[in-house]
Amino acid sequence: MVIAKKDKIIDNPINSHENNKLNNRVDDNLKMKSNGDYIKSSNNLNKKYKNVNNFNIKISLKDIKFTYRNGIHALDDITFNVEAGDFIGIIGPNGTGKSTLLRILDGILKPQVGTILIQGKELNKYKLNDLAKVIGYIPQNSVSIFPTTVFDTVLLGRKPYIEWGSPTKKDIKITSEILYKLGLEEIAMRNITELSGGQLQKVLIARTLAQQPDIILLDEPTSNLDINHQLEVLNLLRQETKKNITVIIAIHDLNLAIKFCNKFIILNNGKIEAIGGKEVISKSIIEKVFKVRVKIINDGTDLFIIPMISNENEEDVITLDIISYDEKINGNTKEKIEKEDIFTVQ
Ligand code: ADP
Repeated sequence: MVIAKKDKIIDNPINSHENNKLNNRVDDNLKMKSNGDYIKSSNNLNKKYKNVNNFNIKISLKDIKFTYRNGIHALDDITFNVEAGDFIGIIGPNGTGKSTLLRILDGILKPQVGTILIQGKELNKYKLNDLAKVIGYIPQNSVSIFPTTVFDTVLLGRKPYIEWGSPTKKDIKITSEILYKLGLEEIAMRNITELSGGQLQKVLIARTLAQQPDIILLDEPTSNLDINHQLEVLNLLRQETKKNITVIIAIHDLNLAIKFCNKFIILNNGKIEAIGGKEVISKSIIEKVFKVRVKIINDGTDLFIIPMISNENEEDVITLDIISYDEKINGNTKEKIEKEDIFTVQ
């Protein structure tokens, strides 16, 4: 059952009068189509790309194409800029190029076409060690973890800074501080193979923070976590963005992405379908890219995306005022709820 405030519901935030103000804040990279959706405008993107001396721009991609050796064209015509402190959600269906894009940003995969600037310098000009001081990457299902203690795993994040083979007092201090900050000090001596999914994810984030990077890339960081740990991990990352660290995550849960990210790159078949703030999360784009029917609800603060099953009408997706829903649970009359709180979306 869906719960939301009755008077704030709209179908597509972009088409709503209520959100006209939002339209003025749409990313420069976007152009509005006649139906109210936003599409990327290559002219604006190029104009913005030229402005790479902007101190705030952390990552600048232009015309990236990537094809795997088996001939699969994973990415095409990828152009965007990312600024310091951005929390970017890369969204799109399976196989649409999200992981490939993250691996390209980390320098693991080299695009056949296009340029990537990291803090104004070409990615392929970085020495590996220097790049590790700028970018931290946590792959999906990090299976290649070495069976050692939590402390040593986090200390490994200091590797790019360790010059003579053994960590300095400073490395130990940074590691200890991060363990404490993330509430991992009590399990510091446990072997990481004995941890729960949530604990392991936090340890991997701690290791990346020990790297002190300016940019953190994460591939599906919340996919195996319960809602409590999902929120904890995303909150942790949001705190980092407040220190001007840029966070880019590939994420399947659209509602979590909307809650935490300030910008979105929507990928569709290896191309950018839309890019920008919450304004780009529209019914038509989500339905086109994911090939499902959805209803979008705006409660005035957040957007909620509700998938609909094939024979369901929007009217069937009941939306209740949150207070009345509580009352219903406590045994108040069904009649009151039906009269006042059940409604349909136009
Ligand atoms: P996503 O992360 O959105 O699920 P991926 O980036 O993993 O998508 O994959 C994009 C496309 O590239 C898919 O068609 C996938 O099958 C293909 N692909 C991914 N990894 C490889 C690989 N190592 N070799 C060949 N093709 C790959």
